[in-house]
Amino acid sequence: MAGKRPLIGVLGLQGDYHAHGRMLEAAGARTQVVKKTEQLRRVQGLVIPGGESTALIKLMDAGDWWESLRIFAGAGKAILGTCAGMILLASEVLNPPQKSLGLIDATVERNSYGRQVESFEGTGTFGTGRQERPLPMIFIRAPRIRRLGPRAKALAFCRGDCVLARQGPVLVASFHPELTADLTVHRYFIGMVA
Ligand code: GLN
Repeated sequence: MAGKRPLIGVLGLQGDYHAHGRMLEAAGARTQVVKKTEQLRRVQGLVIPGGESTALIKLMDAGDWWESLRIFAGAGKAILGTCAGMILLASEVLNPPQKSLGLIDATVERNSYGRQVESFEGTGTFGTGRQERPLPMIFIRAPRIRRLGPRAKALAFCRGDCVLARQGPVLVASFHPELTADLTVHRYFIGMVA
């Protein structure tokens, strides 16, 4: 039934894209590393991985990525942005302000967890009410969601912050779901694509 497995692209300009590919395959999708905007036409969803958002911005400036990604999302195709990927998808970026795609109504603050705790592992919660369950999370120089617009939905929390949010076809995480063994976020995203 290979035809039923969605083909999901992982943006391979910079950052930890291989780990996302492994998680998506483990969760039942086919994957394709996307290094050229033309490749976006073939994939049904896209992951923008963590890395360094300023470096990603420079690489995106060198191609027609801004326009191409807005067209991709405008066609209703799903995008998951983790960490630096979330920073790129947000409508407003702080610390310092920088340009972004504005595909989810959210204000995010870069490197928001301070120097002492640049990276940490924690257990957050995914889902709400009776569906709520623990989710392991790894944060690396992580951005914090400071504001979420009314059309965005908070899906997971850690230490009092929303750390996973969705607005239509766009899903963002301030942590790195690809670095744990838990497939929850990738399964959820495949559900959005399918
Ligand atoms: N600190 C990085 C930034 O601001 C994000 C870190 C990450 O993606 N792990 O772009």
